[in-house]
Amino acid sequence: MPLTSPRFKNEHALQRIEAGQDILKRGASGRHVHLVQMALVDLGFAMPISTASSDYSPDGVYGFETESVVTQFQRRNPPLAVDGQLGQNTIREIDRKIGGFTHRVRLHFRSLALSDVSFDQMLSSAQTVYAQYGIEVFFASGKSLGLPPDEEARFNVVGQNCTWTMDSGEFAALHALGTPVPTSDVKVFIVNKFQEADVLGCGGHATGKPACAVTHDCSRWDMAHEVGHVLLTSTFSPVHSGSPRNLMFANSSNGPTPLALTEKQLARMRSSPLCRAV
Ligand SMILES: [Zn+2]
Repeated sequence: MPLTSPRFKNEHALQRIEAGQDILKRGASGRHVHLVQMALVDLGFAMPISTASSDYSPDGVYGFETESVVTQFQRRNPPLAVDGQLGQNTIREIDRKIGGFTHRVRLHFRSLALSDVSFDQMLSSAQTVYAQYGIEVFFASGKSLGLPPDEEARFNVVGQNCTWTMDSGEFAALHALGTPVPTSDVKVFIVNKFQEADVLGCGGHATGKPACAVTHDCSRWDMAHEVGHVLLTSTFSPVHSGSPRNLMFANSSNGPTPLALTEKQLARMRSSPLCRAV
């Protein structure tokens, strides 16, 4: 039976293990190892060595620590063979134990411009990134804002630099457009351009009115990145990750591989009132 948890089900390398076509053991590395490590951390196993980096953590390296934690997991879950290797029965048991979504983030989309990447791709990319960690990105509503010509011209280029708190100015005016949404949800605006030409997204918003915006030429992962800023808030450090494999890397990526989050970023995001336990 294929892996069904939202964390594992889209990860081909892990489905291969479930199908008995591969085994992970010491020396293996990659994003699939990161996802297994993160699941084990969430199941209560401490991994201080694998989580030492603030850029890409757990580190995705099947070393002595991972082997030892897999061994502990197997010992606690008879009749699994206790060999420290991740084979068919062990991945099935981890998949079963971590189960479905644990948290949900509700997004309301408001568009002023058509994006280069399709809306479906933008949404499914965000859903894929967060599902890896049991967080459901929920499409709460979507509307195209049909603005009168003068308003449309005004917001064609959002004339304000991006900062964390924007209680006034064009971002605040932009975020006030359209019907209100619950303050426990996040509004996401798709606009044409910002006055800062090299900026493709902004997670800043007015106090108590969670919102972010991306431009029409943003990459497929940018909306997920800006929602990440909204969930992490201005007090999380580092604001941006130094690893291009991390969702919170400063530069835009349009690659096909889903980006990762660290366990510290996740702990902060899961504590946000916008990321509710389900
Ligand atoms: Zn950013």
